[in-house]
Amino acid sequence: MRILTVMTLLSVGVGTCVAADGPADVVYTGGDILTMAGPDPAYVESLAVKDGKILFAGAAEGVKNLTGPVTRTVDLGGKTLLPGFIDTHGHFIYFGKNLVDANLFGCTDVADLIARMKAQVDRTPAGSWIVGFGYQARQMREGRPPTAEELAAVSADRPVMVVDSSGHLGSANAAAFAAAGITADTPNPEGGAFARQADGKSLAGPMEETALNAVRSKRPPFTGELADKVATGAAALWASYGQTTAMEAGLGLGNDDIGIVLNAIDKQLLPIDLYVAAKDSALDDTLAAAYSVASQYDPRAGGTMEKLRAARPDLDGRYVNRVRLGGVKFWLDGSLDTAWFTEPYTTNPPGRSGAFSGYRQIPDEVLDGVFDKYWPTELQIHMHMNGDAAADQALAAIAKAVKKHGMRDHRPVFVHASWLRPDQIEKVKACGAVPSFLPSGIVPGGDSVVKLWGPVRSAGAMASRSMLRAGIPFTFSHDAPVSPTPSILGLVDAGVNRTSGSGQVIGPDERITPYQALRAVTATAAYQLKEESTKGTLEPGKLADLVILERNPLKVEPATIKDIPVVETIKEGTTVFHRGADAQGPAGGSR
Ligand SMILES: [Zn+2]
Repeated sequence: MRILTVMTLLSVGVGTCVAADGPADVVYTGGDILTMAGPDPAYVESLAVKDGKILFAGAAEGVKNLTGPVTRTVDLGGKTLLPGFIDTHGHFIYFGKNLVDANLFGCTDVADLIARMKAQVDRTPAGSWIVGFGYQARQMREGRPPTAEELAAVSADRPVMVVDSSGHLGSANAAAFAAAGITADTPNPEGGAFARQADGKSLAGPMEETALNAVRSKRPPFTGELADKVATGAAALWASYGQTTAMEAGLGLGNDDIGIVLNAIDKQLLPIDLYVAAKDSALDDTLAAAYSVASQYDPRAGGTMEKLRAARPDLDGRYVNRVRLGGVKFWLDGSLDTAWFTEPYTTNPPGRSGAFSGYRQIPDEVLDGVFDKYWPTELQIHMHMNGDAAADQALAAIAKAVKKHGMRDHRPVFVHASWLRPDQIEKVKACGAVPSFLPSGIVPGGDSVVKLWGPVRSAGAMASRSMLRAGIPFTFSHDAPVSPTPSILGLVDAGVNRTSGSGQVIGPDERITPYQALRAVTATAAYQLKEESTKGTLEPGKLADLVILERNPLKVEPATIKDIPVVETIKEGTTVFHRGADAQGPAGGSR
């Protein structure tokens, strides 16, 4: 019951937005202005912005009576203007923390990793853990994660923890296990494992999935200035890749996540929107926090929210100081080498024997209960799934919820949906689910996917063209920091080219056009977030969330899309990123 109350509160104020009259604050002209509305590319000659919203998009003639003495005209000089990019599955807060941690991307061997971790010791305040992120055991000379003993060389008495680029695997020293209260006698949690020494008397260091979470969650919190840095650092990075809406798709992975977001709300730190999906186990705490925020920013007559909206009537009432709780996130299986399949792996991942087909993370009853509870609410259910068995589990849970509560416009998110069997596609469509594909599984990871999954599953992975044919909306997501940068054009490039690290095209039949790939990060991305009435296309009345690119992705050599520089990112009329030039003032808007 309380959940429904919270959702009602959070939904208050989603009003209609009426485009204001001129004169415009800014008029853009002189370049390709790609609206992203409709299934085929459509350009307009000019775009007018007023009070953070799009006033006009159309022929140059039409903008003439919207200009006045205050209107600034921006000549794009041949550059390309698009709707701001939308993150449909990223880990904004988690990444923000990593910006503070040691960067372990591209580690070549254990010695390299240990050297980088040692450099982190002096940069880590007393009382904090020494943490690094981003290595890939497969790509290190030893082909394995570091041991507890090796990590003790970084520090024997301070907790040391490393997490790999998938975020699902890690390793810790004895001090970290002690701080987390984990001993050799601690049983493995469901859906995870601690590696143990052969004699069983001590922990070896490596840990997987829920076992990693058990240690990671005991890390001391980021507070104060450190918490500010997490939010502002991530926002600056996201904006530099053209994003005007970010996502934290697992709030509560760290026990300080909620505090970091509340801190960002209180101090109004975020220049771009942040959609939050709470991690399953942190949902009650997140709802309680959302309730307190909603009460504090009271939407009723005379309340804070009403005053905010009086000043900025265009604000999406669901956002409070750029943050809104939109969903809850569940993990149904593992990463590309622990995905839960109905058929075994073609080649077993390292360390697996027999007919290995990955593993589930939660029992059916739990997922069924989640849908029973939240299907009737406005809280979207996001499910991490890589294998087809995980998709079966999701589809079965949805079918039960539909039977009990009826069909709703819920738009459950199939996060990654890396391998859907052809017979699952119609079911995905029927329940209104939105797959959010992770192209980094193919670029650059495709070669190992081909080996592990075999030719059929790898060719059909991230089945974009199949989705188009079936009429299923789909999006592309970077899952940063699983992708080392939150690059959106990298996703577009990957969806168009599907070229692996070694240069082979993985599943050529699933390649799509640059325009279709751009739709997956603009118009359809807005749809996934249920924000298509305010975002995703350049149409009058929508928010002036814009990105200016050096070149038009539809007119370059497709293999170079990822290299197109982002020139400027504009959130509701205000410049939030400008490449190389801090001298240039805001692009307009009333704030
Ligand atoms: Zn993720």
